[in-house]
Amino acid sequence: MNDTLTRLLALAEADASLRALDGRLADLDREERHLNDRLSAEDEGFKRRQDGSRALRLSALAKSGEVDDTDAKIRGYQHKLDHDIIPYKEMEHLREQVTFLRGRLDGLADEALQLMADADADEEKLKTETEEHAARRARLEGELAAVARRRAETLVEREDLRAKREELFQQVPSHLRGTYERLLAGGGSPVVPVMGGVCGGCHLRLVETTVEKVKADREAVTCEHCSRFLYLRPA
Ligand SMILES: [Zn+2]
Repeated sequence: MNDTLTRLLALAEADASLRALDGRLADLDREERHLNDRLSAEDEGFKRRQDGSRALRLSALAKSGEVDDTDAKIRGYQHKLDHDIIPYKEMEHLREQVTFLRGRLDGLADEALQLMADADADEEKLKTETEEHAARRARLEGELAAVARRRAETLVEREDLRAKREELFQQVPSHLRGTYERLLAGGGSPVVPVMGGVCGGCHLRLVETTVEKVKADREAVTCEHCSRFLYLRPA
């Protein structure tokens, strides 16, 4: 293979590697976004769980308060009945109230005890879930750190490759550089093999003289259809 073609091919390989590295960086960005989404979902889920536990405790406390209030009311009414001189009608009313509230008190006290027991059990369960949440969080943070490390390594690799690519580019004869850059910007490889008389880039049949020139290997030959540089793929 002639020198010019060897250089063009080395440059095209470096550019292909650069594209692969850009692809890897895009993959890492996607992975990082995905991990951050999972981390947010994890935190939100756990916060909802904590809120639920807190709400249960508050309703248990409220129920206990209701028990205390009812008890205090009964005592108050009873005190009035035992010590005050009150009209008969009011006395009747207070007695009814005391009977009614006493009837409610047992049920309320049972509910309050049950709610307290539920809240205690839930808090105990939450302790384990807190540890599990912390473990899942740590795992996600670890994965994020690994992504950040891989990105840093890839960026260094890309920086090195860009420098090497620049060197290779300077080694290509200056009158071919513009064509090369245009082809590169168009996507795909600017340097392609000829296979069975067909251009490996646009897959169109090449005229005989072009194939002959590629075989002669004395200069950089381009496809008459797509302008890509051609080389002969060793059979
Ligand atoms: Zn072509």
